[in-house]
Amino acid sequence: ATARNNESKTAPRKGLVLDKDGKPCRLCTDAASWRSLTKQAKSESTPDSKANISTAMASSFAALAAASSSSSSPSPSTTTPTDCPPDVEALGRSTWTLLHSMAATYPEKADSAQQRDMRGFLTLFSRLYPCWVCADDFQAWMAHPSGRNQPRLGSRAEFGWWMCEAHNEVNRKLGKKEFDCRFWEERWRTGWKD
Ligand code: FAD
Repeated sequence: ATARNNESKTAPRKGLVLDKDGKPCRLCTDAASWRSLTKQAKSESTPDSKANISTAMASSFAALAAASSSSSSPSPSTTTPTDCPPDVEALGRSTWTLLHSMAATYPEKADSAQQRDMRGFLTLFSRLYPCWVCADDFQAWMAHPSGRNQPRLGSRAEFGWWMCEAHNEVNRKLGKKEFDCRFWEERWRTGWKD
């Protein structure tokens, strides 16, 4: 069940993901799909009950999409606000930065209290992540019946690798290139070797 690919959770309009109450889920939808939805919604005279988005919300998200895809040229972005709510991608990038940074600063050897705290965080995180379809999939991945995806929290090396695998699971789901986990620490802790 991906925010992009799950038919049962997507609205009739391509790419749009609905919230559990049937309304469009902005934090589960990428900015381009949202923008195209709002263009359609504006051009239709009859409101669609499942895609009923306020014009203000629509234009602010469209502005976000424009800002994030704009080149370095100043053109229309000079009037485009950049302080708009995130879409699923902006939220994801910021969250991975937090999660990998938590792994990067995790103790080299973690005692049982440190492991318990991190396990608690990950359990709550997987329930509370604001993109609910992402959260559902993340929970399901962690709870794989074989137990193979349970957080490995004995040390920084273990946890960093586990986080990289978790991220790669999402990369695969979205058709993105997998990251070579041997380099997670250079990416997120030490910086790249020359
Ligand atoms: P990101 O995937 O955000 O990665 C940021 C940077 O991390 C990359 O530039 C790279 O340097 C580094 N990186 C990449 N892979 C790894 C790795 N394996 N280990 C270490 N570093 C790495 N989006 C959806 O559309 N559907 C979903 O179901 C979905 N689920 C998500 C679940 C979670 C828990 C999170 C945090 C995000 C989820 N996202 C989902 C968002 C998605 O993962 C991306 O963040 C988003 O698509 C933006 O991708 P990006 O290409 O900019 O780079």
